[in-house]
Order: sequence, then structure tokens, then C-alpha cells
Amino acid sequence: MDKRMLICANCGSTRSQATADSRALGLQSEFEGGSYHCCQIVAWADEQWLAWSEAAQADGHSMQEATKPLEISANDPELQPVLVKLKKNLKRA
Ligand SMILES: [Zn+2]
Repeated sequence: MDKRMLICANCGSTRSQATADSRALGLQSEFEGGSYHCCQIVAWADEQWLAWSEAAQADGHSMQEATKPLEISANDPELQPVLVKLKKNLKRA
């Protein structure tokens, strides 16, 4: 069985989805090392998406541009402060 197709019974994400999310959050090594569970990663990715969409809306971007928020936010220097803020929140949690 392909390990990447395993679906978490708790959060419903596949291993590959959770890995992609952890990469977007900059937490891939922690995730793969077992420091974080996929359910945490997926919840934080959701939180990041929310922060990104709020920032995008405040910035006057349309939600159509939000189709790939994780990739865009990781590459958009204007949104780096959002990611930094989120990572600080994660460290505290
Ligand atoms: Zn899970």
C-alpha cells in the first residue's frame, strides 16, 4: 500500500496533504520527525490560510487569487510577516 495514500482517521487528511501543508508552514522536518501530528499541521495550515485570506482581502486582492494560498504566501514577500506571526503563535502553543 502506498504510504502517501494513508488517510488520518482523525483529521481526514492524507499523508501527502499533511506533508505539503507542513512544507508550506516550514515545519516539514518537525512533522516528518514526529514532533507534530498531521492533525496539528492541518489545523495550522487552515489557520494560515485564514490569516492569508484576511491579509489578501485587506490588501484588496480578490479571493480568486486565493486558490493556492499556501504556495502564494510562501513566495510573496508582502505576506511573510503573516507567516512569521503565525510561527510565533505556533511556538507558544
Ligand atoms: Zn490527522
